[in-house]
Amino acid sequence: MTDTRKLPHGGVNPPNDSNISRTAPIANALVPSRAVIPLLQHAGTPARCVVQQGDKVSEGMLIGKAEGALSANVHSSIPGTVVAVTGITLPGGVASQAVVIDLEGEFGKSGKPRQPRAWEGASRIELLGRIQSAGVVGLGGSRMPTHLKLASAPGSPVALLVANGIDGEPGLSADFALLREKTAEIAEALRICRALLEPQRIVLALGEDARELAGAFEEACATSKLACDIAILPSTYPQGHEQIVLGSIGVKGAPGRSVILNVATLHAVYEAVVLDRPLIERVVTVAGAPVARPRNLKVRLGTRLGDLFEECGGLLAAPGKIVIGGPMRGVAVSSLDIPVTKGTSGVTVFDESAARTRTEWPCIRCGACVEVCPWDLFPTRLYKLVRQGSLAAADREGLSRCTECGCCAFACPSHIPLVAVFHEGKKALAGGGNG
Ligand code: SF4
Ligand code: SF4
Repeated sequence: MTDTRKLPHGGVNPPNDSNISRTAPIANALVPSRAVIPLLQHAGTPARCVVQQGDKVSEGMLIGKAEGALSANVHSSIPGTVVAVTGITLPGGVASQAVVIDLEGEFGKSGKPRQPRAWEGASRIELLGRIQSAGVVGLGGSRMPTHLKLASAPGSPVALLVANGIDGEPGLSADFALLREKTAEIAEALRICRALLEPQRIVLALGEDARELAGAFEEACATSKLACDIAILPSTYPQGHEQIVLGSIGVKGAPGRSVILNVATLHAVYEAVVLDRPLIERVVTVAGAPVARPRNLKVRLGTRLGDLFEECGGLLAAPGKIVIGGPMRGVAVSSLDIPVTKGTSGVTVFDESAARTRTEWPCIRCGACVEVCPWDLFPTRLYKLVRQGSLAAADREGLSRCTECGCCAFACPSHIPLVAVFHEGKKALAGGGNG
C-alpha cells in the first residue's frame, strides 16, 4: 500500500544545485593508497586501538574494539601496513585517534563473489552479534550502534519499524541511489529487522522526488514475502529527519515504540548478517557547483576528501567553502586531508560567491522564521535571549529542542545568523552557563 503524507509543520524548499543525474549508477571510488581511519566514527566513546605501527592488516580486520556501551568496532578498509597511530581533528573540531594504513597485499573482502550466509535459523543473540561485530552504526547521521536499536527490551513491543529512504538534505542523493541499486538487499535487511523486533507494521518512507522507486521496492517485498507499506512524504526539508518522518507516519492506537533505520544502515545490516562483511565503505554524494562531475561514489572509509574530488573530475573553480554534509547543516572543513567516515553521507562544495558572508540587517519581525520552524519554536525570540545572555530563559523557550536544521536562517530576509547563535547558545548551556 502506498500512502501520501504531509510534513506536520514548517520546512523549506531550498534549490537543489547538486546536478547529479537521478539515473547515474553509483561509481566505485579508487581504493586509496593510504587510509586514515578514525577510532571515533560513532556516538559514544572511541574504539580502543588493537593494532600498532608496523602491523600487517587485512581488509576488514578489526583495528579498533568497541569500548563502552555506545561504542562501535572499527575495521581496516584496505589491506596493508599500519604506518602510524596518530591524533587527528575531525569536522567540528572533534579530536580522535586514527590508524594510518598504507595499501599493500591482497583484497579478501571485495572484488570476489561472496556466498550468502543463512540467517533465518540464527538466534536473536547471534544476529545482533553479527551486526555489532561488523561495527554497524546509524549512517543517516545518528551514528548510534545499530545493534542497540535492534535489541528490543522485554516488555517494550515495537509498533512501527520504518526504513527511512529520504536523504537528509537537499542535494544529497546517496540514499536514493543506494535504494535504487540495492532494493532487494534492503528488503532482506528489513526481514532481518522484522525477525529481531517483531514490529506490528513496517513502512518505507520515500520523498516525493523518489516516488519512482516505489514499484521496484514493492516487487522486492513481494518476492521476499515482506509486508511493507510505502509512505510518500513531501520533499520539503527537513522531511528526512527521523522524528519528522515518524511524526508524519504516526501510529494510531497501537501501543509500543517506533524504530527507524536509514536505508544505508539497513544495507550495512544486510552485508553484516548475510555477507559477513564489516562496515568498511559507504556511499557518499560529492556535489556542488565547482565539482566537475558531481556523483555518488562508493568510498572506502579513511579515504581523504581530496581524492573524492579527483574521482569527480576535479574542481572547476577555487572552492569558497567545503562542508561535510549538505548545504543546510553541513560542517565546514578547512583541509582536504580529512577522511571519509561512517557518518559522511555527502561532501558539498560552494564557490566563492556562495560562501561570502551576507550583510546582516536588523530583524523586521516578519515572522518568516517562526513560520518555517518544524519544531514550533520562536527563533526570533530565542535569538534575542541568547544574544543578551539569558540562556536559562532561552532554555525554557526550547533552545535545546532546536535541531539546528537551518530553516529559520534560510528563510530570514535580514540574513541573521540564527543557527550559528543557537549553536553557540546550546554549547554554553551544555557547558553549564545559565545566564
Ligand atoms: S534551526 Fe532551530 S529554531 Fe531554526 S528552524 Fe531549525 S529547529 Fe527551528
Ligand atoms: S525571519 Fe529574520 S527578520 Fe523575520 S522575524 Fe525572523 S529573525 Fe526577524
